[in-house]
Amino acid sequence: MSPSEIDDRLTQIKHNLETVKSRIAVAAEKSGRDAGAVQLIAVTKLLPVEIIRAGIQAGIRSFGENYPEEAAEKILAIKADSDVTWHMIGHIQSRKTDIVCRHFDMVHSLDRMKIARYLDRYSGETNRIMPVLLEVNISGEESKFGWQAWNEVRWSDLVAPFKAISEMEHIEIRGLMSMPPYAVDPEATRPLYQRLRKLQQFLMGELPETNWQELSIGTSFDYEVAVEEGATMVRIGTSIFGHRPAQ
Ligand SMILES: *Cc1c(COP(=O)(O)O)cnc(C)c1O
Repeated sequence: MSPSEIDDRLTQIKHNLETVKSRIAVAAEKSGRDAGAVQLIAVTKLLPVEIIRAGIQAGIRSFGENYPEEAAEKILAIKADSDVTWHMIGHIQSRKTDIVCRHFDMVHSLDRMKIARYLDRYSGETNRIMPVLLEVNISGEESKFGWQAWNEVRWSDLVAPFKAISEMEHIEIRGLMSMPPYAVDPEATRPLYQRLRKLQQFLMGELPETNWQELSIGTSFDYEVAVEEGATMVRIGTSIFGHRPAQ
């Protein structure tokens, strides 16, 4: 990208970021929440390092990435000159778990036991504790990853595996993450987020020693609804950076 191109993108990003932040503030106020309790994760999958740098210049400090190798390259390029944190939000293949462990500060997409064991092992090898969110599927849509959580009657099935994860030494549960199915109307996701919050209450009752505080929900499409329904982290790409290149 040419310097003037990057300048234009920076102006755009700053403008978009202000819009997103003010909409988060309005949504928080509408539901009697403190906007400061909502962390904005800027999603930069498939975007070049120059755009991430522009994001940092615009004031972003938390980034979300989906693909471990791609992310690792960008993280290494950026890391030296900033204090940003990196959130893994994409599906993790087990053979790439070590890359995730080496480069990310938090994992939102812990969706199965095998990955929990790998994360625990690799984090142990590097002598750290990885904060994680458990990704749950609250819609029942088959293409979505995550622990099966659409049927309330089956929630008790989650207690044993979640308890086992909570007892792992080198990962630390902080809450839940979910990615609802595509919908035309963001209001369609509201009942799903309400179900997620109910699941959170259930888990707080069943496993009270574990921290269930974080709810990572809401993308460009529906983040205002997510904030109204209790999101503590929203993951926003397109509304900040514009459309990204196809994968
Ligand atoms: C890409 C992605 C986002 C961001 O989506 P936008 O529509 O660009 O805001 C959020 N969460 C996950 C898991 C993603 O893969």
